[in-house]
Amino acid sequence: MRVLIVEDEPDLARQLRTALGDAGYAVDHAPDGEEAAFLGDTEPYDAIVLDLGLPKIDGVSVLEQWRRDGIATPVLILTARGAWSEKVAGFDAGADDYLTKPFHTEELLARLRALLRRSAGHASANLACGELRLDPKAARASVDGEPLRLTSLEYRLLHYLMMHQDRVISRTELVEHLYDQDFDRDSNTIEVFIGRLRKKIGADRIETVRGLGYRLICLPGEPN
Ligand code: CA
Repeated sequence: MRVLIVEDEPDLARQLRTALGDAGYAVDHAPDGEEAAFLGDTEPYDAIVLDLGLPKIDGVSVLEQWRRDGIATPVLILTARGAWSEKVAGFDAGADDYLTKPFHTEELLARLRALLRRSAGHASANLACGELRLDPKAARASVDGEPLRLTSLEYRLLHYLMMHQDRVISRTELVEHLYDQDFDRDSNTIEVFIGRLRKKIGADRIETVRGLGYRLICLPGEPN
């Protein structure tokens, strides 16, 4: 999962970057409205955290522009305390949720998890696929009840596959959703990570669909 943080206060931006990175997300940061507008239009984020008070272009205008451009990414806005009219303007512009500053990072992470699972059409907090389980809150996964030891990229890969377990996912899509913008993106590395993940969860759990990509195999009758 890949998230864009739009925040002009350097300390808060750094804090959020670290927290989201530790929680297993690929993270990009935009310090002003102009860069936010550009990144949101060109990169396929899974969610966006958008401060409304921004230099160059204000957050509400950025959000309105994204929605006009057909960008449906879930957006959580950050508003100043007491500024109820900001929240109204934010929701009217297309926001999906909000947090008032100051807030606890844990609450932001919980709201993000909820936004991500709703946008992917999952009702429950934990993901399941056959005997595979993934707990986004703890950033942990298990198979047949046995905890998996995954690197952060393997975890991110499994999280994305489990969120979209009903369809085939191309290598390009994986590259776009697993790596931040500064990462040296080589779609061949995806194959390497798929290979490593197969070794840990069982080779037959990830199907290669020739020319199209990969699909997670969930045995019928299992909850998903
Ligand atoms: Ca601000």
